[in-house]
Amino acid sequence: MNRRELLKAAAAIPLLPGADWSRLADARGEDGVQNQTVSRVRPGDAGWPTEESWNKLSRAVEGRLIKVNSPLSACREAPDSPACAEVFKGLRNPYYIGDQVALTQTSGWVGAWTSQPSVYAVAARKTDDVVAAVNFARENKLRLVVKGGGHSYQGTSCAADSLLVWTRDMNAISLHEAFVGQGCEGAQGPQPAVSVGAGARWLAAYEAVTVRGGRYVQGGGCTTVGVAGLIQSGGFGSFSKNYGLAAAGLLEAEVVTADGVARIANARTNPDLFWGLKGGGGGSLGVVTRLTLRTRELPQFFGAVSGTIRARSDTAFRQLIARALSFYADRLLNPHWGEQMRFGPGNKLEIFMLFQGLNQRQAEEAWKPFRDWLAASPRDFTIEAPIRMAAVPARSFWNAAFLKMFAAGVVVTDDRPHAPAGNFYWAGDRDQVGQVLYAYRSAWLPVSLLQEKERPLLVEALFESTRHSGMSLHFNKGLAGAPAEEIEAAKDTAINPAVLDAFALAICAASGPPAFPGVKGHEPNLNAAGRAASSVTKSMDKLLEVVDEAGSYVSESDFFEPQWRRSFWGSNYPRLAAVKKKYDPEGLFTVHHGVGSEQWSADGFRRLGSGGRP
Ligand SMILES: Cc1cc2nc3c(=O)[nH]c(=O)nc-3n(C[C@H](O)[C@H](O)[C@H](O)COP(=O)(O)OP(=O)(O)OC[C@H]3O[C@@H](n4cnc5c(N)ncnc54)[C@H](O)[C@@H]3O)c2cc1C
Repeated sequence: MNRRELLKAAAAIPLLPGADWSRLADARGEDGVQNQTVSRVRPGDAGWPTEESWNKLSRAVEGRLIKVNSPLSACREAPDSPACAEVFKGLRNPYYIGDQVALTQTSGWVGAWTSQPSVYAVAARKTDDVVAAVNFARENKLRLVVKGGGHSYQGTSCAADSLLVWTRDMNAISLHEAFVGQGCEGAQGPQPAVSVGAGARWLAAYEAVTVRGGRYVQGGGCTTVGVAGLIQSGGFGSFSKNYGLAAAGLLEAEVVTADGVARIANARTNPDLFWGLKGGGGGSLGVVTRLTLRTRELPQFFGAVSGTIRARSDTAFRQLIARALSFYADRLLNPHWGEQMRFGPGNKLEIFMLFQGLNQRQAEEAWKPFRDWLAASPRDFTIEAPIRMAAVPARSFWNAAFLKMFAAGVVVTDDRPHAPAGNFYWAGDRDQVGQVLYAYRSAWLPVSLLQEKERPLLVEALFESTRHSGMSLHFNKGLAGAPAEEIEAAKDTAINPAVLDAFALAICAASGPPAFPGVKGHEPNLNAAGRAASSVTKSMDKLLEVVDEAGSYVSESDFFEPQWRRSFWGSNYPRLAAVKKKYDPEGLFTVHHGVGSEQWSADGFRRLGSGGRP
């Protein structure tokens, strides 16, 4: 089913109360082929496990089997009730969502998927719980899903009629001064590291490693993203231009594979699995239970730069884009600088950059040429928010108490009664909490586009793209400008090698507030979704006129990406597919556009005939 057909189908949804888009997309498979073989069972099917079988599983996991009941059922029964209002209030708090077995951080994507609770979930505390769940799913032909932080934009950590392994409670963290992987003795020197349970959020890792331990671990920018999902994506944080891909910092993982065996994966033990886990995509190779990541010296300062400039004419905006890019290429394309510039409709440039390893004076010095240039043309530009910067002691960067005192505007705290005092997320991530996606596309931009010869083409493409929608350049999500050893380390991962010489990941997306089909008063706005999707498509298509066969980041990409194998993994796909075949030959672990998913129907229930989808 192509995108246009899907959007048409989505437009018909109001006629179908409670419609589930994922089933709609599933009905014919992506290519319109009717799928024949029934490979997994749903409740009501003859092969669905008996009550006694479930009880047996419950005993095996010491009572940690949950019969899932979504908080949204309160809304389906009584949409105007205070109970339903409470749920939708909670859907604006990522910590509330993270604590709900039935919910995910993105509520859905119009025309693509809707967050669906599993029938049962094992709230795993230890590896044996995961082993029991994996064996039970395999033996009973169940659809199995794995959820950690629940931040998948693609809906890959939820599935209707499934058994869920929920790692939320596997969140122990321990620091090592001299870690050596199992079987790596003699081959790898001891190094400082941190072991993190698969269900931990990055904030917990940063609190342990940086705030309490005075060191650095490369993780994600968003504090509530789960460690295991991000590492398996490849993973970028604000300072990846210096510390590289988060996955490249993985020293060892413990993984339960489809045969129910808990395996160690590192450079010496199961090295093929280890490689696949580093960027091969979450939920495809097994259930990760624990990750050990290298830690680094902490710089003295981290800091932020922000500002908003509006050009007073199209000509001035073209000049502004050109100047911002040349300034970036000359002064910021180096390990110190990460995060974003957003070029928006209304001829607006918004700057949200972060830096590491510079003090306030050095950061001011770096930005002086750009500020001077703006100041010299007051008739062309309106400074809506002056370019300001602040350096803070790096050790305080994830310290909730410090941030609340000195930078209250940049953080939002978990407002639930009795919430842990340290729970916060960046205000910049607020709109994404509980969102319904309307569209999302991304593309790695090769650094060659910044060369003087090619830059004018990029400027024009960016200008044209902003006629339709805002385009953000995430500089920290491309490794051009990173230290050579970090680029080398990233080469030894499954991620698309396009990241290595990309100066940025361009992201264009649109979303609306939490909403669910069939919940009266909280239905997604299909008209807004259709309009936004069309704008995002036009905007990204304009930008892509200057990039051949752009790759994109598996975790921040288009649900409808037709060339997903090439786009997410490029030349690494055949090797990744071989790892998948070796460790999960029957396809127990299947996620949308994950490795091997071409052999499954879109809902992950039916194995397709030979060849799968094109
Ligand atoms: C608000 C927001 C901000 C983000 N910011 C960043 C960012 O700064 N940098 C970045 O690189 N990415 C970012 N992402 C993308 C994010 O890294 C990925 O979506 C990531 O996969 C989420 O991991 P999770 O555990 O939170 O999500 P989940 O939805 O729980 O999992 C994501 C995928 O990984 C699988 N998975 C989870 N746990 C395990 C496990 N233990 N074993 C095997 N498979 C598992 C799931 O099955 C699913 O397929 C962001 C996403 C959101 C929504």
